[in-house]
Amino acid sequence: MIEKTLVLLKPDAVQRSLAGEIISRFERAGLKIIGMKLVHIDKEFARKHYTEDVAKRRGEQVRNWLIEYITEGPVVALVLEGVDAIDHVRKLTGVTEPKSAAPGTIRGDYAHMSYGHADEKKIPIKNLVHASGNKEDAEFEVPLWFSESELFDYKTVHQHLTQ
Ligand code: ADP
Repeated sequence: MIEKTLVLLKPDAVQRSLAGEIISRFERAGLKIIGMKLVHIDKEFARKHYTEDVAKRRGEQVRNWLIEYITEGPVVALVLEGVDAIDHVRKLTGVTEPKSAAPGTIRGDYAHMSYGHADEKKIPIKNLVHASGNKEDAEFEVPLWFSESELFDYKTVHQHLTQ
């Protein structure tokens, strides 16, 4: 099933000059970049992205930290397309807590923060990337971040080889 998913390289990824490194991991897996831009969002937009759902799952406090974190600098926003892209991108990204994220994943290779440390220090977990969690989230997040005219249709070499 060909899917589209939203990926954000969060401010820590951009500030650590890891954008190219991270994007290349998605590219080399054959995922197609169909949208990409650098944006510095405001708090109002951040509240649309990190909805009440995050507060329900993680608590209002975490949602507030997240809104501060995602607005502290520019992010690279990407829409990636590919076979089961939503799950595949989550696999490359690794689990939410960098301490538990497997080596070879983005969060496991470039961060080591734990929930315990973040909660004790009252700071958000800086884990470099956001990736849509499921089909419903992707269908909400892609049009939130990208207009139709910012998404492109073309064939990659992988498509030429597999179709
Ligand atoms: P994910 O980004 O892996 O889909 P969530 O949507 O549950 O995870 O959480 C959103 C973001 O909130 C995480 O990526 C992380 O940056 C931050 N976060 C989640 N839980 C905590 C926590 N207990 N303390 C601090 N930050 C957290």
